[in-house]
Amino acid sequence: MNAPAKGKLWIVATPIGNLTDLSPRAQQVLRDADLIAAEDTRHSATLLAQFGIATRTLALHEHNEREKTDELVRRLREGAQIALVCDAGTPLVSDPGFRLVRAARAAGVVVSPVPGPCAAIAALSAAGLASDRFVFEGFLPAKSAARRAHLQTFSNETRTLIFYESSHRIEECLHDCARVFGADRRAVLARELTKIYETILDGTLADLSARVSADADQRRGEFVLLVAGADAESDAAKLAEGRRVFEILRRELPPSRAAKIAAEISGAPRKALYAALE
Ligand code: SAM
Repeated sequence: MNAPAKGKLWIVATPIGNLTDLSPRAQQVLRDADLIAAEDTRHSATLLAQFGIATRTLALHEHNEREKTDELVRRLREGAQIALVCDAGTPLVSDPGFRLVRAARAAGVVVSPVPGPCAAIAALSAAGLASDRFVFEGFLPAKSAARRAHLQTFSNETRTLIFYESSHRIEECLHDCARVFGADRRAVLARELTKIYETILDGTLADLSARVSADADQRRGEFVLLVAGADAESDAAKLAEGRRVFEILRRELPPSRAAKIAAEISGAPRKALYAALE
């Protein structure tokens, strides 16, 4: 049996640009904690100084999370109040902390969130794309071939897709998205949210790709890319039309030829037309 836990692990979201987004409760928790586990202690020092918070910090990043977790869980079990922060936004969202939270919970330690900024959710809230259901994918693979292969797995995804991207890859990433999802797919590019140069561009993937390629300013900063899901209704309509044409053609032609022509006429995928044969 685990000993009853006395300490508490607070998961504290911090600003993604605008420092005044640090909530009063987040300030209080950071001030009252015995220790702040921070992704980068020097980075967090700026934020803490801004609010006159003098709590001690300890580094917890992807390279030492494994070894620091045991020590932190021990201190939590001894009664420490520990706050976890990342450089910006919500810890664990494309940021460290998962191991610590899992270990703390397994040890019976209370883990409590102090919610606040998250770039993906902030972007979604202002994008004007379907927001009832969405898929958060974080960062895509850095190399183009792997990125395209990964994007391909979402080609029939009907939910809004959300990706994080860096300034040096945004141009290539938009280009690959247009290739995989089609130039006409709607998308939104949210850049530098809550900061001075915040811009939220929307249009087709071809539009966004052209705008980002043409303007170096649009390649600076931090990005969230949102891609509208595949239009389930129009895909279903294409498929219905494709099957109708396929049925007519296959009376006269071999199935492979009939499927090829029906796919060309309707825009439905050839494989899906073959499925009608089964
Ligand atoms: N944990 C963070 C969160 O809750 O959003 C995300 C951390 S992840 C390491 C950093 C990525 O988040 C950036 O590369 C960018 O894709 C996105 N991001 C962070 N701040 C942003 C901002 N102000 N505007 C747009 N994207 C941002």
